[in-house]
Amino acid sequence: MNATQMDRKRVKLKKIILVVRGYNMNRISWDQYFMAQSHLLALRSTCTRLTVGATIVRDNRIIAGGYNGSIAGGTHCIDDGCYVIDNHCVRTIHAEMNALLQCAKFGVPTDEAEIYVTHFPCLQCCKSLIQAGIKAVYYAEDYKNHPYALELFKQAGVKTEKVEAKGAIDVNGKQKKDFVFSLLAQLEQNGLGKEDLLELEKQANQIFEN
Ligand SMILES: [Zn+2]
Ligand SMILES: [Zn+2]
Repeated sequence: MNATQMDRKRVKLKKIILVVRGYNMNRISWDQYFMAQSHLLALRSTCTRLTVGATIVRDNRIIAGGYNGSIAGGTHCIDDGCYVIDNHCVRTIHAEMNALLQCAKFGVPTDEAEIYVTHFPCLQCCKSLIQAGIKAVYYAEDYKNHPYALELFKQAGVKTEKVEAKGAIDVNGKQKKDFVFSLLAQLEQNGLGKEDLLELEKQANQIFEN
């Protein structure tokens, strides 16, 4: 085999390896990537009422992130319960505000930046985002979308778009788990043997524990 043949063989092998590893198929979009980041941040939330994550992005680079929680060093809702006034938890700073304040604290400009939030922003956050120069709001879930917030975003020329992190991370993990266990319960009702059922339960538990 001469040098050219060897090179060709090497290129072919490299292509096969790339296909096997799934590089050609599984590249996630920027939207999925940033929204996945916000879902990860939401897992850091300390409020039991709702977990929200927000990621501020400029030129496809993450410049700040936040989740809803108490002030640094403060009492957490998960430890002492929420501090509820007029049906709102007043202990926490919202994820979007925390991300903006991180920029304020470290002197990072937010003008012309974009934000990825797990839930549609509340009216207060909407106004702060507009005032900070955010030009686009991408959200994964509708959340009491206030008509005045929508109006203000429109007035200010801020783009709002619903995007999901589908395929990037398992955002429906809990629903999948509930579904599998409801199927197992049905199998039991339909008379599946105890031994088989225990084996299936064991396998399901192994999957969902990871
Ligand atoms: Zn709370
Ligand atoms: Zn808010």
